[in-house]
Amino acid sequence: MFDLEKIIRPNIKMLTPYSSARDEYRGGTDILLDANESPYGSALNRYPDPYQTKLKQAIGKAKGIEVSSIFIGNGSDEAIDLLFRAYCEPKVDKAYIFSPTYGMYRVSAQVNNVELVELPLTVEFELPSIDMIKDSITSRGLFFICSPNNPTGNIYSLDVISEIAKAFDGLVILDEAYIDFSNSKSGTCLLDKIDNLVVLQTMSKAYGLAGLRLGLAYANKKIISVLNKIKPPYNVNTLSQEKGLEALNEKNSKIREKQISEIICQRERMFKALNELPITVEVFPSQGNFILAIFTNPQQILESLRNEGIIIRDRRSQIKNGLRISIGNPDENTKLINTLNELCK
Ligand SMILES: *Cc1c(COP(=O)(O)O)cnc(C)c1O
Repeated sequence: MFDLEKIIRPNIKMLTPYSSARDEYRGGTDILLDANESPYGSALNRYPDPYQTKLKQAIGKAKGIEVSSIFIGNGSDEAIDLLFRAYCEPKVDKAYIFSPTYGMYRVSAQVNNVELVELPLTVEFELPSIDMIKDSITSRGLFFICSPNNPTGNIYSLDVISEIAKAFDGLVILDEAYIDFSNSKSGTCLLDKIDNLVVLQTMSKAYGLAGLRLGLAYANKKIISVLNKIKPPYNVNTLSQEKGLEALNEKNSKIREKQISEIICQRERMFKALNELPITVEVFPSQGNFILAIFTNPQQILESLRNEGIIIRDRRSQIKNGLRISIGNPDENTKLINTLNELCK
């Protein structure tokens, strides 16, 4: 039933991609008189590798994914936008989300003039029944599933995600920005079996590199080749490629694993501490590096924390009395808990 050829937008199918001067990039010894660059300056006088070859090879090795199945964007946000531009015909196709969820899907749908269909999660933020989901699908387009979900922190079963993909003849985008903080398996294991699945990951959260803007999309190589065709040729800058590569070496991977364990440990500490406060109505268990809680007095909490120089995320527009708290370092977390305890006196 799913046919990729049918969901590529006609204008994109016909597009001849920009051919960059550095298409035969060899790096190193050539005399480069093809791109109007300056011959002077540091290594940054040259345009970056448009294919991000070294970084992709390292990611492929770390994740067990072929290079041709990897897209690297200037953050996941770029990948999300390009998916719309390639695979979602404005005014015809639709974007499906489970709400509450990450805000960029809505923004990107709106920018691309695509109708958004919101399927509400249950009160405990679980997915609605598969029948209800199937009944809600009325078009092709993009179906976003954020797991672990931001801002609720829970994770969805890969079985249900597979079922949704089977029932949909657009692309299912599984956003795994927080997967490294969870104890569940990544959906990348489904990529061989499910043709219309795209898995998004990022170096912004567990890798501690939000400033680099490195977003990753994995999918079958036909889906990826279209994204590569339409991306700005130099979308990932030289410094980001270098630093991203460095983060994947053995030493830094060990350091990162320790940091992730520490964050998980602090998350459990914060979960317990928040639960014990008389001002929390409900604290949701989280598989991410944040916790969502419902408070009796959210406005007062936001103000008191701000007075102490602590900023948390107001989610009341999506969830009644809901505030989202990122897990900081142990001292930051202690300060937050102490401030909330003071407030209860
Ligand atoms: C933080 C986050 C991202 C990361 O976006 P980048 O553009 O890669 O920094 C993606 N998806 C979700 C759900 C997030 O919360």
